[in-house]
Amino acid sequence: MSARYRRRVGAVRPSHIMYTTGVGSLVDLPNFSVLVRGLDDWSYQGIPEWEPIAEPRLLAAVRSLLHPANVKELRPAPWLEGLDRDPGGPASRVGMPVVPFPSWLRCTVCGELAPIDSRVFGFENDNPRRPHDARFFHDSCPRKRTGRKPLAVAARFVLACAKGHLDDFPYAAFVHKGAECGKASHPKLRMDDRGGNLGANVEIRCVACGARRNMREVFGRWGAAKLPRCRGRHPHLNTYEGTCDRELKVLVVGASNQWFAQTLSALAVPRTDASELQARVEQYWDRLAQIGGRDVLLFARNNLAWMQDFAKWTDDELWAAIERHRASGEHAEPTAGTRGNPDLRTAEWEIFSSPRLPEVTDDFALRRDPDGVPAELKDYFADVIQAERLREVRASVGFTRLDAPDLEDPSLVTRAPLSRDLPTWVPASEVRGEGIFLRLPEQLLADWERRVEKSEVLAEHREAYARFRRNRYSDRISGPFDPMRHWPGARYIALHTLSHLLIRTIALECGYNSASLSERIYSGTGDDPRAGILIYTAVPDAEGTLGGLVSLAEPDQLVRLTRRALNEARHCSSDPLCAERLPQDPADFLHGAACHICLFVSETTCERGNRFLDRRFVVPIDDPALALYQDVP
Ligand SMILES: [Zn+2]
Ligand SMILES: [Zn+2]
Ligand SMILES: [Zn+2]
Ligand SMILES: [Zn+2]
Ligand SMILES: [Zn+2]
Repeated sequence: MSARYRRRVGAVRPSHIMYTTGVGSLVDLPNFSVLVRGLDDWSYQGIPEWEPIAEPRLLAAVRSLLHPANVKELRPAPWLEGLDRDPGGPASRVGMPVVPFPSWLRCTVCGELAPIDSRVFGFENDNPRRPHDARFFHDSCPRKRTGRKPLAVAARFVLACAKGHLDDFPYAAFVHKGAECGKASHPKLRMDDRGGNLGANVEIRCVACGARRNMREVFGRWGAAKLPRCRGRHPHLNTYEGTCDRELKVLVVGASNQWFAQTLSALAVPRTDASELQARVEQYWDRLAQIGGRDVLLFARNNLAWMQDFAKWTDDELWAAIERHRASGEHAEPTAGTRGNPDLRTAEWEIFSSPRLPEVTDDFALRRDPDGVPAELKDYFADVIQAERLREVRASVGFTRLDAPDLEDPSLVTRAPLSRDLPTWVPASEVRGEGIFLRLPEQLLADWERRVEKSEVLAEHREAYARFRRNRYSDRISGPFDPMRHWPGARYIALHTLSHLLIRTIALECGYNSASLSERIYSGTGDDPRAGILIYTAVPDAEGTLGGLVSLAEPDQLVRLTRRALNEARHCSSDPLCAERLPQDPADFLHGAACHICLFVSETTCERGNRFLDRRFVVPIDDPALALYQDVP
């Protein structure tokens, strides 16, 4: 864009960058909309002191997902406080760079429709104190009256494909049914927008030849056939990748499926002794791989100088770590494209489930009540930990359009790039907070799993999962498609449901906005059983509530909270509809007895988009045998 747009047009806090806004997303301003540009155009000039965000575990995960050799840093978004004090000062020149998009505008008075670069419309952004007043206007509007220049707004249709491409709607070609206008080389167009949803009431008209066509034609079943081929456009990078094989879809600006963030998140946890050993084994793997047996290891330890680095571990520990690493290498899948997301949860689970709490750091402080779990809750929880201090770092690795990224399998939905070249850094944000960690008794879960394993309800959940994946992804995978891949398991559904019950009760009891709470579910069966829930605050403005969430882990509070959460789980005001809900063929939603009234939480709170929830797996609803807890404490 030319220099006349190079001024702040709005304010988005950096913490919003991960979920609601980011590279490639459309931001609706009051008078037009803008697209956040790629990393190549981000600048840190004018920010006196900024530092990369240090979180080695997350950086390693980002590197393993993107291009290992390139990504070297996690960076906070360019941001400078002080805009309120000095609107024309340095802060006004710092921020995420944007470009107006869609680049077609419509005059709200006469309906003239033209691209921004046609110069039909002027731009004003005069008042630095009111960046939101920036606007386009139609100066030569034939229907202009005295007073303010007629406002021009974004023409609200865009095209997108499942590879993440985004393009302007080709209005001129559309109204002329793909042909040139018979009367003019640059015909004047009008958009007659009578409002309403979608395009039902919008007509495009060519003033020169009189052709007219209703936008209704491109919506619905046969609409795609009337659209051109995708040109592979990435307007955030200003690039065209050339004709792409995906079908284009018409979206209205503001549609929720035009952009989905793809992020990774890690808690800053100290390394456990075991993870330190494993990391060191990895570091020396070139040499350790040669050691084929225990006797060779003993010889090496006594004779090789570099073995000193393993002095603090016993022969048994070291040999076990070597074997573990060898096994993980053998089982590793050959192609990077089919790997799941990098594992960021194991290290966290190890810390939370360890009988010995780690040393307190600035980023991480845990506390366990010396009396242990309150007597009333002994059958419900095996451990309760107050996380007095937590730090969470989130990194953006890309985005998708039309379909949300698959949370387990990053290769399923094509990720659009953040920059023209391979990125050397990715945007990240860090937040500090506090939380409660609850571990459930392993025996309780193992017994329950045996009870529900053969149940019809679980079978329906599994089948819905397979349908869900077949419907969305089966055409995207070359080679064999395993519809049950990454199925989280019954245990996950029970833990996740319990987490939502507690979050909703915490919000009710303590006046927390539930959107300021987050969850992490640690679930696993077999050789590596896990059964933990972390509920935590991780929003920048939650500082005022410090201590509030942690105090809920005090015995009296926790008993009351659990009692209320489980009691309320037994009924929903939309029962019996809600209580009887199960995804049956052909439905492919991924929850059972769950709805907005009883279980759903905000999108930013839930780690799985309100999927994998079912009250009947936690408390008795229809068949008590399905319930993890038979009673309420
Ligand atoms: Zn006009
Ligand atoms: Zn025409
Ligand atoms: Zn495309
Ligand atoms: Zn419900
Ligand atoms: Zn959730």
